[in-house]
Amino acid sequence: MALNKIQGIHVMTPGPTAIHESVREAMSFAYTNPDLDENFVEFYAETAELVNELLHNDGETYLLCGEGILGLEAACATFIEAGDSVLTIANGIFGKGFDDFSKMYGAKTQIFESDDRLGIDPFALEAFIEAKGPFKVATLVHCETPSGLSNPVEQIGKILRKHGILSIVDSVSAVGAETMNMEAFELDVVLSGSQKVMSAPVGISTVSVSQRALLAMQARKTPVVGFYSNLNIWKGYKENKWFPYTQPIHLIAALRVALERLVKEDAVHKHETMAQHVRETFTNCGFELYAKNCYANSVTAVRLPSALDFAKLQGKLKEDHQMLIGGGFGPLENKIFRIGHMGEGCSLDKMNHLMRALDQSFESLNVPTSNSLLFTFLKLTGQA
Ligand SMILES: *Cc1c(COP(=O)(O)O)cnc(C)c1O
Repeated sequence: MALNKIQGIHVMTPGPTAIHESVREAMSFAYTNPDLDENFVEFYAETAELVNELLHNDGETYLLCGEGILGLEAACATFIEAGDSVLTIANGIFGKGFDDFSKMYGAKTQIFESDDRLGIDPFALEAFIEAKGPFKVATLVHCETPSGLSNPVEQIGKILRKHGILSIVDSVSAVGAETMNMEAFELDVVLSGSQKVMSAPVGISTVSVSQRALLAMQARKTPVVGFYSNLNIWKGYKENKWFPYTQPIHLIAALRVALERLVKEDAVHKHETMAQHVRETFTNCGFELYAKNCYANSVTAVRLPSALDFAKLQGKLKEDHQMLIGGGFGPLENKIFRIGHMGEGCSLDKMNHLMRALDQSFESLNVPTSNSLLFTFLKLTGQA
């Protein structure tokens, strides 16, 4: 397959997202040697500090070389010791997946499982903790990207802290699009990644650790199994101006430019408004959303009209419009389609294009809609 065959596609998927020209440009320069040049240590630390700013974190952020999943694994490896009692909070695919990671590092887990179309109910969660606890660590997902749901992490964080439970939050597709305040929400470890709202190239996991969690890392009784996912190997990197391994300087430079773009604007408000307009567009045109409450700001999951095969819709979008959206996976395969409106995808121009492409695709697939998606979206957003 030639290089040009994987270019020129407009991605409106819930990650990886489109990358702005200025961010791509940052990848194209010749850089210093990241192992030997002290200026790079400072550049790295400042970039990590931008993530702290975005998350209101009083501790450290580590930028790990690997896509989002590495952060999830590193958090489990570093904060879980064999035999620890871990609470898995799950109302979706990523939430449940955390349980496997925790067990891999020897945890004894109990799952608080709830409906994947509803946000986690903090009261039911607290009752579960009181009945089944104590727990040392809890894992949870902020935005369940596969179903378009965003959990109430503020209330959950406070409940976990009240019960002395260290929280590990997968906020990979939420950071930048949903309000996050680690200090105020009393969250300990928050994970994100470069390829979602940040709209930087795939390849960096961000792991943000509160002051409280930094102490917990140092208080482990047994050594961490593994090297790459052991966050303790970063200890003193700033003071000693030394990295545990060669840093991906091009990826970090691109992330820096992307973060500077993101912190400049009121990104949460922009995503919230876009998400609301996208949801209203679909419901006004006769579609049903998958989530029933706690809608995500970064992604919308819509039920596929019955008798429509997702592959056919995707095929039309790709062939006729050079566009890609997301489908459903696991139990949601062929049940939903998903629109990413995160980061660079959170743009009226791009959404106008997508709505037009969807109108034409539904028409040529003989799927009736009660209104034109494009016209409805233009009206709702004041463009018509
Ligand atoms: C994208 C994402 C990740 C990272 O996983 P990928 O393999 O990059 O998709 C982790 N958690 C959530 C909730 C995500 O949306």
